[in-house]
Amino acid sequence: MREFLQRTLIGALVVAFLSLLVWGALGAVEALSLALFCVLLWLAFHLYHIALLLRWLRHPGSERVPDGFGSWHMVFMTLYRQARAQSQNKKKLTNVLERFISAGEAMPDGVVVLDEHDRIEWLNPSAVEHLGLNRKEDVGNQILNLVRQPNFHAYMAADNFSQPLILRFVQPSERVLAIQLVPFDSTRKLLLSRDITQLERVQTVHRDFVANVSHELRTPLTVIGGFLETFADMDEPDPAMLKQFMPMMLEQTRRMQSLVEDLLTLSRLENSPKAVPNEKVNMDELLATLRTEAEGLSQGRHRIVCEQRSRRWLWGSENELHSAFGNLVSNAIRYTPEGGTVTLAWRDCGQKAVFSVSDTGIGIPREHIPRLTERFYRVDRGRSRGNGGTGLGLAIVKHVLARHHAKLEIASEPDKGSTFSAVFGAERLAEAERLGQP
Ligand code: ADP
Repeated sequence: MREFLQRTLIGALVVAFLSLLVWGALGAVEALSLALFCVLLWLAFHLYHIALLLRWLRHPGSERVPDGFGSWHMVFMTLYRQARAQSQNKKKLTNVLERFISAGEAMPDGVVVLDEHDRIEWLNPSAVEHLGLNRKEDVGNQILNLVRQPNFHAYMAADNFSQPLILRFVQPSERVLAIQLVPFDSTRKLLLSRDITQLERVQTVHRDFVANVSHELRTPLTVIGGFLETFADMDEPDPAMLKQFMPMMLEQTRRMQSLVEDLLTLSRLENSPKAVPNEKVNMDELLATLRTEAEGLSQGRHRIVCEQRSRRWLWGSENELHSAFGNLVSNAIRYTPEGGTVTLAWRDCGQKAVFSVSDTGIGIPREHIPRLTERFYRVDRGRSRGNGGTGLGLAIVKHVLARHHAKLEIASEPDKGSTFSAVFGAERLAEAERLGQP
């Protein structure tokens, strides 16, 4: 500003000086004419630049700032700098805003921005999916008209948003949402939705599991506790009673032991890292062991057949495969009445290989087959417990096979028998090694 005034003052002084010179040399009229001419020139100069400034003000922008002369050059340079700084700030702000919007769009949680009348101002794709909203049509509409669940209305009316609201939807698919309202900006609110369907399922499974384990342990504990109380009431334990009750107590103890062992096996399988060890499992040996075990369990009550039609071995964990196949063999023996046949087979099937256990036992009605690998699922609870079952055998089999990328196939017919097959893909098959060779 000071420079501007200085320049104007210098200009005026020069004109006055020249006019005085002309006055002295030519006379007053010439001097005044010169002064007037200079003032008009000065006015025209400024009017021209004011016009440039006005034109720029109508369409501002750093790239369109006009060029000026003299003091106007400074004015336009200052404007140019300010306009450029402003446009850079605007760009920065736009970038930040765009990043925020992209982050909001990518969030797995639903986000809806509501105005003071609970009308939708903005929503992200997860909110669209969770609450069944429409991004184009529902902006500007009241959320209460769009989410019609009575407890949602009650939550919005209650004005206490410290705890999330759990909303259950059945249509179009079963879904559980945790909804939370977060007031901000004095009038606006953020409506957040989180899909907790999976979490709820896991919690239900966990609750059922704890209930099942407690139930399984309660019976043997009650039996043992009952016997012990009887003995505790006696001054001296009756040897005849001891002899009678001891085997029953032992049986209940064994039942608890097998349950705890199976639970530990399951827990180990569930908690161990995804990949199984890559041992070369000798199937010739494993089949021979399983056969011996089957004969031990059967105690001569069944015919045990072993068909080895594949010479291939398996890549995997010998312990886990032994445990899984052993469970299938034990089931076949336990669910096959005396005189029946249990067949262990290992055969090639195209690129794949199949280990199967078939029996001529009681079989399984078709409707139970899809649920057999669930923990504690039994077709006949009494029969399973009666023959020492824990209800966890097939759950263990399922886990082990999944870890070996193998599939469990079950074919069964009531009163005819069942076949449980473990199908291994080509990537799990190994060439057999001859004895004595590495
Ligand atoms: P359990 O310890 O009860 O045998 P499993 O998980 O091994 O538990 O098996 C689940 C259920 O599947 C059993 O209770 C039984 O009803 C049925 N099942 C398993 N194997 C056979 C089989 N070979 N024949 C008939 N039913 C079977």
